[in-house]
Amino acid sequence: MARRVAVVGGGVAGLAAAHRLRRELGAEAEVVLVEQACRLGGKLRTVELAGRPFDLGAEAFLARRPEVLDLAEELGVRSEVVHPAGAAATVRAGGRTQRLPGGTVMGVPAEAGSVAGVLSDAGIAAVRAEAEMPPIELGADISVGDLLRARVGDEVVDRLVEPLLGGVYAGDANRLGLRATVPALAKALDDGAGWITTAARAALPTPKPGAPQPVFGAFRNGYRELLDRLLVAADVEVRLGLPVRALVRTGEGWRLEIGSAPAPEHLDVDAVVLAVPAPAARKLLQGPVPAAAAKLAEVELASMVVVGLALPPGTQLPEHDGTPASGALIARGERHSGGTPFTAKAFTFSSNKWPHLRGSGGEVLLRGSVGRFGETEDLRLDDEELLRRVRADLAELTGITAEPVESAVLRWGGGLPQYGVGHLDLVADVEREVAGVPGLAIAGAALHGVGVPACVATGEAAATSITRDLVQPER
Ligand SMILES: Cc1cc2nc3c(=O)[nH]c(=O)nc-3n(C[C@H](O)[C@H](O)[C@H](O)COP(=O)(O)OP(=O)(O)OC[C@H]3O[C@@H](n4cnc5c(N)ncnc54)[C@H](O)[C@@H]3O)c2cc1C
Repeated sequence: MARRVAVVGGGVAGLAAAHRLRRELGAEAEVVLVEQACRLGGKLRTVELAGRPFDLGAEAFLARRPEVLDLAEELGVRSEVVHPAGAAATVRAGGRTQRLPGGTVMGVPAEAGSVAGVLSDAGIAAVRAEAEMPPIELGADISVGDLLRARVGDEVVDRLVEPLLGGVYAGDANRLGLRATVPALAKALDDGAGWITTAARAALPTPKPGAPQPVFGAFRNGYRELLDRLLVAADVEVRLGLPVRALVRTGEGWRLEIGSAPAPEHLDVDAVVLAVPAPAARKLLQGPVPAAAAKLAEVELASMVVVGLALPPGTQLPEHDGTPASGALIARGERHSGGTPFTAKAFTFSSNKWPHLRGSGGEVLLRGSVGRFGETEDLRLDDEELLRRVRADLAELTGITAEPVESAVLRWGGGLPQYGVGHLDLVADVEREVAGVPGLAIAGAALHGVGVPACVATGEAAATSITRDLVQPER
């Protein structure tokens, strides 16, 4: 019998779910994707900058995970995946810009000496002093900041771990939970590593024989390439500009209330995948799965702004010790030499990092990011002022003062969920509750990782769970 499934949310998780539903349920099934915005992609957004497709949401993916690469292969766009040039990542901390040291797990050093360039002598002494402490008994979960500050000192957190975590979660190390955000370190401690540096050593990936595999990938013409292919292959009915307002169980199926509050439409389906951010999922689950909704209410979000700049051809992006710099993370509290605080928390020197990324006239492209969890003041500035401040930060950091040929400012309100202490348990509770309701599945960045591969994985898993429910309804 033909089935009708609704996917709510047209970000990468929803599109991956829709695509997998089509593959698993076949051509007969009706898959309807309902998206509140007037475009698909969610946090993936490719714009034109200096005549070139340029990502102003997510710009890359972790290529050590298989999901995006496998999907690209399946969709016939694997040849469009590119990898960064061997440019050097840097961090501005303690008033200086240094190369980001290797041999760390999310900034946690495997030995004190490896972070000597970034930490002060006192900071290095604090890392070494941990050896005199009793071994760690991790327990349920703890914030990254609380654990590391107590064991290896503030500088490791402030100058390395938080800038790196900030790049992924825009988060505050004192609130992010260790088990969800640095799981390899937590596992090594669970396995009895005892000390932070010992755990970091155990958690470092073992080098594989042969040429090193690239850590990151991206699409030559931006994420748009992946989204377009996903949409065609999913062969779904897309309903744009229609928020789903309510989700109601109706006998064996579901009724979705969609569109404007005064004149809602109804969509009746056999099953639903919810691939929306935590606040929207909380609202929609309140009726059918209140316990899951209550848990999702605990997930907080960070907002941010991405500023894209196209600089005149020939503009020299920074180098570090003769190697082009791929970007710079900026530690919280860093200031210009004149005392002005930095507004940006990071820059990606895109044309250094990705050799193919130049404007159509050879313009040099880069991105500045603004916004950390709990720091919302800068986000209230208008676009012009944000642009001015990001350019001032760039000038301070790199000496580049060239007038941009073109610029773009994109705001991401509630862009990234924060994985707090106990996040893994929270997600396990949500998923257990949802799994108890046939014909319902959830996906997206609130669950098992904010990165694009993790979101694809949750979308595909949700589709598989729905297929199982529809094919074996007695389950
Ligand atoms: C600025 C930024 C940079 C990032 N950089 C990277 C990176 O380089 N690499 C990486 O791997 N990850 C990165 N990420 C993270 C990653 O992009 C996201 O976590 C991921 O794309 C989220 O996908 P999603 O489908 O779960 O959610 P979303 O993309 O948020 O999609 C959810 C969709 O649901 C829709 N929606 C919400 N409520 C409703 C409703 N009631 N009815 C209908 N539709 C609704 C929304 O409009 C949205 O389109 C970045 C994120 C941001 C914000």
